[in-house]
Amino acid sequence: MRLFDGKAGFVTGAASGIGRATAVAYAREGARVVIADIEASRANSEETVAIIKAAGGEALFLPTDVSKADQVKQLVDTVVSTYGRLDFAFNNAGILATGFTADIEERDFDRIMAIDVKGVWLCMKYAILHMKAHGGGVIVNTASEAGLVGTPNAGAYVAAKHAVVGLTKTAAGEYANMKIRINAIAPGAIATPMVLDLPKEAQDVLMDPQPLHRFGTPEEVAEAVIFLSSDKAAFIIGATLSIDGGATSNAQSYN
Ligand code: NAD
Repeated sequence: MRLFDGKAGFVTGAASGIGRATAVAYAREGARVVIADIEASRANSEETVAIIKAAGGEALFLPTDVSKADQVKQLVDTVVSTYGRLDFAFNNAGILATGFTADIEERDFDRIMAIDVKGVWLCMKYAILHMKAHGGGVIVNTASEAGLVGTPNAGAYVAAKHAVVGLTKTAAGEYANMKIRINAIAPGAIATPMVLDLPKEAQDVLMDPQPLHRFGTPEEVAEAVIFLSSDKAAFIIGATLSIDGGATSNAQSYN
């Protein structure tokens, strides 16, 4: 018996990086997964579906912009109409914006809030509305180490990820007695396009606080999400789990 046999859910931002690795991991554990990502990532999303199907799993791609309420509602409806149930939601889609606080452009601030904060809230809202009426479920939100500590040159991102931690804590308490278990993850620097596409100097800054002198892998993050989503984590509610190789556990650099 696998951890998610018979279960179904969705993963946002599943065309790439952490989302893809986690969608594949859910499917490996028996889950049927809707791959939710923007239309512009169609080719990569279809690749995620193909990886899952090649391993004998079930998945489909639904173009979804998490910042749009109608599309998120459609996402929940699609999971339920296709697979008959919604057991888990991994609200993971996000973007990064850099810039010192006074240099951030207003449109960049608004965009990051729309995707990284409102997007997570909308996915929680529509997943919770369904789960409340159908016996519960599990939600994991992707925050970041930037949701726990300040990070120079990333004020808008830091604000957005702190908001994800706050939304997680609050909703976790509100819905725990309705059998909806809600937690967040706080990855450190993980080897995905979000980090690997940064200039080398920016990658060096991210590497600086790493005691292990390496970036994490999307698969290492996926393992933690699978655990938090499973019944093994039944008493973990409202937590933000650091998956950062120790980067935020000490104020001192290791390099
Ligand atoms: P990534 O860029 O590889 O993947 C992000 C995915 O989100 C992409 O497929 C992108 O198309 C999708 N996306 C962007 N806007 C969207 C929208 N409006 N609607 C739906 N999908 C959208 O990055 P990743 O590193 O895998 O990031 C996944 C999550 O992990 C993000 O929330 C990110 O902030 C967070 N995170 C990443 C790191 C890291 O070091 N990589 C660290 C901490 C947190």
